Amino acid sequence: MAEASCIKTAQRIRTERGLVVVDTVDVVVVGGGPAGATAAWDLAQKGRSVVLLDRESRIKPCGGAIPPRAMKDFAIPESKLVCTVKGARIVSPTARMIDMPILSGYVGMVDRKSFDPWLRERAAAAGADRRVGTYQRIERDTDGTAVVVYRPQGTDAAPERIRTRAVIGADGARSVIASKEIPGGEERPMVVAYHEIVKAPEPGTAPGYDPERCDVYYDGTISPDFYGWIFPHGDTVSIGMGTEKKGVDLRAATAELRRRSGLDKVETLRYEGAPIPLKPMKKWDNGKDVVLAGDAAGVVAPASGEGIYYAMCGGRLAGEAVDAMLRTGKAVHLADARKRFMKEHGRVFWILGMMQNFWYKNDKRRERFVSMCEDPDVQRLTWEAYMNKALVRTSPLAHVRIFLKDVAHLLGLVKAT
Ligand SMILES: Cc1cc2nc3c(=O)[nH]c(=O)nc-3n(C[C@H](O)[C@H](O)[C@H](O)COP(=O)(O)OP(=O)(O)OC[C@H]3O[C@@H](n4cnc5c(N)ncnc54)[C@H](O)[C@@H]3O)c2cc1C
Repeated sequence: MAEASCIKTAQRIRTERGLVVVDTVDVVVVGGGPAGATAAWDLAQKGRSVVLLDRESRIKPCGGAIPPRAMKDFAIPESKLVCTVKGARIVSPTARMIDMPILSGYVGMVDRKSFDPWLRERAAAAGADRRVGTYQRIERDTDGTAVVVYRPQGTDAAPERIRTRAVIGADGARSVIASKEIPGGEERPMVVAYHEIVKAPEPGTAPGYDPERCDVYYDGTISPDFYGWIFPHGDTVSIGMGTEKKGVDLRAATAELRRRSGLDKVETLRYEGAPIPLKPMKKWDNGKDVVLAGDAAGVVAPASGEGIYYAMCGGRLAGEAVDAMLRTGKAVHLADARKRFMKEHGRVFWILGMMQNFWYKNDKRRERFVSMCEDPDVQRLTWEAYMNKALVRTSPLAHVRIFLKDVAHLLGLVKAT
């Protein structure tokens, strides 16, 4: 047996008795955003042969807010933050403003322009074979093994093929892998989000702007069913909104948001839109060798649109599911990714889904919702739940108080002051 060539990548190509033989890699991760890069990083650290494929064509539109729990769980150093946020301002349809300071800690803000490449570099440093190209499809070898076909960067390059034991589909909200490989993946409810990246105003020139505060607008004229935001990013600011409703003029709504916040005159650097999935898919795997992670699996928190932390969790769980499958030869382990995710976060997603469906329905309810945010118990529990990603069980009395106030607001017994 002659070993003609050995490429220093996850996939080895050699010749045996005059025939080209392509080794099979353990896993191809398609998509190098937070979900895919985390899966590839974890699997490479476990010693698996991993190809991380990403098209690296554009910066992911994103507000970039991440909780401390994400930094802790996924070893994100403070140096990757473009700024830190110490509180939020909630604005109602009648322009009432409620400030929600964070009493301990901060929310980290990342710039996806540098954050995503760093995540991919980290996976490569751990041993993942990083490829730049566009995923096209999965073909099957005569023995049924998956062969990932992708077009390398550069328009006329011929497609390349990678034989693999498993595929992690982390190719984002418009996932081709979800729609082609997973039952039920063709149709997923989405919020369409749009934002403008603007230059941060010079200190003192925009009195309503605070570079350490996220502003959130619950107002039907900004978004009829979601919200508008102003998120600081150090030298820049993300201003945007989202909606599930068709026919809403996203640019006009964002222009109005800029006008109201006094940020209409600052320079616009980029504007971009992208979908945000609204609901975790019922199935994340094909029962054989493909499993989804992140936006591809629909895991963005309802009501808040938070997806980075959940994408990284999904990537980790997909990686662990693939590892278990490769270790045991049992494809049934692929379903563990969804089971484990929903066990940990399903309840929070359900509560946030209910919240969005009820409180984001009309301006009257939005006004009441903002009133509720004035409550110190609501503020404390909201921040604790966001920052630590766990429903707080330590303050039963606060829960009871919130429940009673919530009911009073629902029944209209409390006036939205
Ligand atoms: C406007 C907006 C604001 C947001 N703000 C926040 C926020 O403040 N905080 C927060 O937590 N979440 C926010 N989100 C959600 C968050 O951005 C996503 O949930 C998160 O990026 C999901 O990560 P992912 O890795 O699953 O997918 P993505 O980040 O979308 O990554 C998918 C990757 O797959 C690659 N890819 C796609 N198709 C192919 C292909 N065919 N071949 C090769 N590569 C491919 C892409 O290049 C990309 O790198 C926001 C979303 C939007 C749209």
